[in-house]
Amino acid sequence: MFDTIKINLTAEQRAKIEKLIKKDVDKKLYSKIEKISKYLNDKKFIKTAELIDSKEKVYNICLLDSKSALNDFQEKSKKAFEEDSKGKCTTLRGKTQEYIKTEYEKLYENFSNRDVAYKILKVMNVNVCPYCNRQYTFTVIKKTSTEKKIRPEFDHFFPKSNFPLLAVSIYNLVPSCGLCNKGKSASLSENFLYPYEESFEDKGIHFEIPNIIGNLLDQEEITVKLEPVKNHEDLIKQYNDSFKIDQLYEEHSDYISELLYKNYIFNDEAIESIYRSFKEILNSPSKLKHLIFGNYEPDKFNQRPLSKLTKDIIQQLVQK
Ligand SMILES: [Zn+2]
Repeated sequence: MFDTIKINLTAEQRAKIEKLIKKDVDKKLYSKIEKISKYLNDKKFIKTAELIDSKEKVYNICLLDSKSALNDFQEKSKKAFEEDSKGKCTTLRGKTQEYIKTEYEKLYENFSNRDVAYKILKVMNVNVCPYCNRQYTFTVIKKTSTEKKIRPEFDHFFPKSNFPLLAVSIYNLVPSCGLCNKGKSASLSENFLYPYEESFEDKGIHFEIPNIIGNLLDQEEITVKLEPVKNHEDLIKQYNDSFKIDQLYEEHSDYISELLYKNYIFNDEAIESIYRSFKEILNSPSKLKHLIFGNYEPDKFNQRPLSKLTKDIIQQLVQK
């Protein structure tokens, strides 16, 4: 169920994340990765070993911060591994590949359960799944050692099974709900928008109720579609095929119906009249509209579930 919402991180948030990662590389990650590098070196996978043989290199990999940088690094590591494999038997090649995968898998498991992962999530402040915009993804850090910590799942944008060296790269980890994490794992990452850079909003993709006037106040008939299909056919088809986006959002027909009712009842005249009665606590009529409709601007989409749907429907109602 995908509907990519952008994770907008400020320079300040990124700096905090960088600090947390650097500290973790110094204290934990590097000593583990150094062992992997030494093992690869012993097996004469020299070029692959060289990719991860210093703290500086490991910092840089952990902090690769764009889709293209992550992809480029992966290409580089594939090439290195190919070159290292020349003249070696397929068993050794397969075993080494498996070793890298297993070790990085362990590295990720360990990292994702440590406090550092929770602290980074707190800094990111992504409170709703950026993929579906339907589920809350709060992080709760324990106050005492016996309290249970809570965090969203991490989706590996570039899956760790195919891209093991990116298993602990922080911007390859997308805080997401369990449903989306599982839903996406089987699909090719290139076909999805990368939430740290891209969103449906930026691409002009929006929810639309076909024939909204006919649907007004008629709960039974509500359907919702992603548009404009003609400009983004492949992307929308991919999202619908993999995640049944139309079908899942149609399950929210009660919510959409409420919006239609509210829009009908709280017309401009009603808004103006209520606003006059509560002027002293409301700054503007738009504040009142926000309270009634719960609409958010795109930069706050990841603070409330269904915020993209809400904004798109309201926009459609205004234009109708
Ligand atoms: Zn989700």
